[in-house]
Amino acid sequence: MNDIFSLADDLGPFKVIHVQEPSIGLKGVLVIDNVARGPSIGGVRMAVDVTTEECARLARAMTFKNAAAGLPHGGGKAALVGDPNMPVEQKEELIRGFACALREAEQYIFAPDMGTDETCMAWVKDEINRVVGLPREMGGIPLDEIGATGWGLSQAIKVAMDFCPLETSSARFVVQGFGAVGKHVSRFLSQDGASAIAVSDSSGTIYNANGLDVEQLIALKTEGKPVTDYRDGETLEGDAIIDVDCDIWIPAARPDVIHEGNVHRLSTKMLVQGANIPITYAAEKILHEKGILSIPDFIANAGGVICAAMEYQRSSEAAVMSSIAEKLARNTLEVLETAKRESILPRDAALAMARSRLEEAMSFRRWKLF
Ligand code: NAD
Repeated sequence: MNDIFSLADDLGPFKVIHVQEPSIGLKGVLVIDNVARGPSIGGVRMAVDVTTEECARLARAMTFKNAAAGLPHGGGKAALVGDPNMPVEQKEELIRGFACALREAEQYIFAPDMGTDETCMAWVKDEINRVVGLPREMGGIPLDEIGATGWGLSQAIKVAMDFCPLETSSARFVVQGFGAVGKHVSRFLSQDGASAIAVSDSSGTIYNANGLDVEQLIALKTEGKPVTDYRDGETLEGDAIIDVDCDIWIPAARPDVIHEGNVHRLSTKMLVQGANIPITYAAEKILHEKGILSIPDFIANAGGVICAAMEYQRSSEAAVMSSIAEKLARNTLEVLETAKRESILPRDAALAMARSRLEEAMSFRRWKLF
């Protein structure tokens, strides 16, 4: 594991706060990466194996994502060690304890991420008030319910089609991680005529070359069942989803799932990064050399944080989807055009774009870095 100082550079992290309260089994970390554009927004991730390093890398991804999306927010991320499926009373105690411990960390606004949801954010609101991603009943815009990130991904894909080239109506897609992001991007793509041929969750992969019924899969997940309970398909190991031949491969689960060791197994025309940091830079280079288009995470999956930032500004739910569509289409086009014109990786084009927006904000600060 990398030491936190070895991850530091000219952009951050600004603050790293570790939290421990053994009496309730609370162990977590907050990384505020950069606040030049405003208070940081980034989700609280809950997982048994989450690390400070993962949290710091995710916080950096939020810095770039928020800058690229033109939001008045910096990047941060919080991580809580624990099984997100623990008994709800225990989870509530941990989330409330974590929020209280971070009461003074005013440059961080809590938001949901893997393992946490709107209910968790309602507990945070009750304790410290500084939170987005609340239930509708509390004035929130439930980004996972409306599918803000999945909607943004589908808009990025529409633009990317012209660079591939592909037609949405005949595209076959694969989704690793059929959760909040995975379900909604599948729904939006199917509505445009594309066909889901494999999806996975932590139980395994379900595959049917003739197409899966996305609504049926969503109904299964709503009942709390795994995708492998779907009947009209072949059940495969979770990892086998990497080998499925398709047009669009969408990682929507954990970090670093595609790396130098397995990138050669992908057989796709486009990789669209729904998850945060799902692919290593070395693997992205290999995709580029093979002519496979890869749309970086902090460009493609910005829908959720755009929604969260709009909730923070008290915008209406109706305005959210059109704003996401407009920002995602514009940024994806700019990144892919630059990448093509300069023969560089889309990630490098995206980083240059985000960095220049960030450095402009940093130039107005008394301490140039933050
Ligand atoms: P989620 O918890 O709702 O869903 C994650 C899904 O991934 C679950 O179905 C889980 O079973 C599955 N999964 C876990 N490990 C897996 C594995 N090894 N193989 C296959 N499936 C696996 O989470 P989410 O909100 O959909 O987030 C997914 C990813 O997208 C995360 O990286 C998150 O940071 C990122 N993201 C989410 C949002 C958002 O709006 N929710 C926004 C931007 C980025």
